[in-house]
Amino acid sequence: MSATAPLAGQLALVTGASRGIGRAVAERLAADGAVVVGTSRSAEGAATIDQLLAGSDGFGLVLDSCDAQALPVALADIRQRAGAHPSILVNNAGITRDTLLLRLGEAAWQEVLETNLSAVYRMCRAVARQMLTSRYGRIINISSVVGSAGNPGQSNYAASKAGLEGFSRAVALELGPRGITVNSVAPGYIDTDMTRTMPPQAAASLRERIPLRRLGKPEEVAAVVAFLAGAGGAYITGATLHVNGGLYL
Ligand code: NDP
Repeated sequence: MSATAPLAGQLALVTGASRGIGRAVAERLAADGAVVVGTSRSAEGAATIDQLLAGSDGFGLVLDSCDAQALPVALADIRQRAGAHPSILVNNAGITRDTLLLRLGEAAWQEVLETNLSAVYRMCRAVARQMLTSRYGRIINISSVVGSAGNPGQSNYAASKAGLEGFSRAVALELGPRGITVNSVAPGYIDTDMTRTMPPQAAASLRERIPLRRLGKPEEVAAVVAFLAGAGGAYITGATLHVNGGLYL
């Protein structure tokens, strides 16, 4: 990778990089010259990430974002293997457990809030420590259009993503004076495993509601993440960038 690549010299940590948007983000940041470490809950997922990043110094790591005790061990492992601390953090790992409010049990509520919000708080707190010392960092949290627009059957998910955006704004205010930017990227409907379970009828009527008349591609979200991670994003913090084909304005 040429030293003039936009992200040369940066170490990027991307959670949930085995599939979908996280995978596209990992590929794009690596193509832009960053050394990328991508996480998955499984050894198979980590091996997929290894293959994805073959030919670069990046690698896959088994880390369940919800495992608070594994986090410091994983960060020490990254430090040892990559010889650096992450200067870019992309909190992408996320889940849905959709159902209407009256059927929404504690477990589905907790699981979504834990994965999509509490794990991000823990990751940011752990990674920001070193960013503060080096007075540089880029934190990018993957939110959702649902955090702004709401969606029936997704009250747990909407709450987690709206919370994530509020969290990002507060942390942006705290960390800005030390050269660290914190932003959210809020995708609309993107063609990944998460949306492929939609019945064909529902997918067709959804497309009709999107002004650009199609689902987004993971690469189109990754391009915005790369922008925020690179020189173009230097003066943007506390923002939510919407990538939704005009679905929510
Ligand atoms: P996918 O379901 O396709 O992939 C999810 C990824 O997250 C996988 O790599 C999975 O890894 C990882 N993951 C899930 N839970 C954990 C965990 N506890 N620890 C570590 N990794 C985990 O999702 P998408 O790519 O569609 O979504 C990515 C992000 O984008 C999510 O935050 C989602 O909310 C958001 N988003 C997606 C939209 C869409 O339309 N697809 C729209 C708006 C937002 P593995 O299974 O290997 O462990």
